[in-house]
Amino acid sequence: MLLDGTKTAQKVLTRSIPRIEALKKRGIQPKLVIIMIGDNAASLAYIRQKQKFCEQVGIIYEQRNFDTSITTDELIIEIQKVNTDASIHGLIVQLPVPKQINIPLIIRAIEPKKDVDGFTAYNIGKMFLSTEFEHLPPATPKGIVELLEEYKVPLEGKEVVIVGHSNIVGKPVAVMLMNRNATVTVCHYYTKDLAEHTKRADILIVAVGKPKLITEDMVKKGAVVVDVGINRVEDASKKQGFSLVGDVDFDSISKKTSAITPVPGGVGPMTVAALVENIITATERLST
Ligand code: NAP
Repeated sequence: MLLDGTKTAQKVLTRSIPRIEALKKRGIQPKLVIIMIGDNAASLAYIRQKQKFCEQVGIIYEQRNFDTSITTDELIIEIQKVNTDASIHGLIVQLPVPKQINIPLIIRAIEPKKDVDGFTAYNIGKMFLSTEFEHLPPATPKGIVELLEEYKVPLEGKEVVIVGHSNIVGKPVAVMLMNRNATVTVCHYYTKDLAEHTKRADILIVAVGKPKLITEDMVKKGAVVVDVGINRVEDASKKQGFSLVGDVDFDSISKKTSAITPVPGGVGPMTVAALVENIITATERLST
């Protein structure tokens, strides 16, 4: 079975529309601001998707562009302008940012109630408490959980193995799955025998950024595989000269799994749909 993120994301967006209409009836129009530094091609592609989904459901979208020479202090001033503007409900500083920018300081400067990426310590901390407090969780983990729930993949008591322990995917998805009573193992670069862990997984989630890191012999028959990786690999047959692939060897592994996400069309659109839901939640919570 293919876990279709494109189709499920559209369902999530459709479900969101009544919440936006209820806000509009009260004279409130949700608005997102994205701060974009430079012109990284992958970032611009992600931003276009965010803009498209926002506009589809009636969220006002504004992009503020800055030169790569911007300093941390200058960026913090820009963040504070958004923090204090009551007409804005969500703020994203699009990553990656240039090397001179101090990312922890930037994240700390974002008003947690407008932190629709769910990166601030406040929102991460709330997520640790229980599902009830997952008000603004990081978008990719939220999208993964929603995709698994949509396809009725049971989580309680299941062996989940996560490969990759980044702050934006691996760690928070581990917490969200523990909140749902899964038994969670988190692997990373220093894990001694990766295959020993992955072979035990009922649900395998891979978020590393290395094509074909996970091969067929590393996956249990009947497992559910969620491939978060997005990698550009050279492909002369494509007009743009590259294809997008995930971290798992899809062709061989898909024959063995009970369900698997494609790349593209899996976790990517779910991340953007989850972001849209976070913008609506932020607007509702700021407007009570
Ligand atoms: P990241 O911050 O670079 O984290 C990568 C993680 O993988 C780290 O925990 C790293 O461990 C671990 N790792 C590296 N090499 C490994 C190996 N050989 N075996 C096991 N673990 C290894 O990346 P990220 O931001 O989480 O993103 C991961 C991938 O997901 C990227 O391809 C990214 O483009 C993609 N992504 C997709 C979406 C989406 O919406 N689909 C969203 C976010 C990210 P150490 O820290 O110990 O080195």
